[in-house]
Amino acid sequence: MRIGILAIQGDVEEHEEILHRLMVETKRVKLPEDLKDVDGLIIPGGESTTFRKLLLRSGMFDALLQFDRPIMGTCAGIIVMAKSLTNEEEPHHTLGKLRIEIERNAYGRQRESFEAEVEYSFDGRARVAFIRAPKITRILSDEVEIIARLGNEVVGVRDGKNVGLTFHPEITGDTTAHEYFLEMVRGK
Ligand code: GLN
Repeated sequence: MRIGILAIQGDVEEHEEILHRLMVETKRVKLPEDLKDVDGLIIPGGESTTFRKLLLRSGMFDALLQFDRPIMGTCAGIIVMAKSLTNEEEPHHTLGKLRIEIERNAYGRQRESFEAEVEYSFDGRARVAFIRAPKITRILSDEVEIIARLGNEVVGVRDGKNVGLTFHPEITGDTTAHEYFLEMVRGK
């Protein structure tokens, strides 16, 4: 199994490190042809507006629309994967792979970044980092499964073979989210 990590911007190395600890091969994905031999893809955190520009410019946006294997988007990654954005003035190209509405930078200045314990639906709690994180403001289909909560808030979802987390699961060294994603890629 080989997992691609979108490597045009954002924290690629941290995801690689976690996957290598789990004995999984990784590949940095920059161009459409890099997607050919990966079984799943991680879209890391970063800056979603920059992602959008670079994805459109490189032809990756269309390649990702057609990519039919599992994707896990974290932080800026979940923004890129969402169906719609709250309060966005200019049109924001998103992949629409997660039927949710999301609000960028939703925690405001005082809570721009914080660590917290989230509760996974599948495997207890883990400490993770929220960094200028978005919030899921609406779930647009009954088929969307809630997989992570921070108190009462929904911070992680699964829609078919796509997963989105509003936080960074990779920074604290916890492997729970990646293990979940890998099981999905293996088809369990
Ligand atoms: N605030 C960023 C955005 O809107 C996301 C931050 C992150 O990925 N850590 O794209």
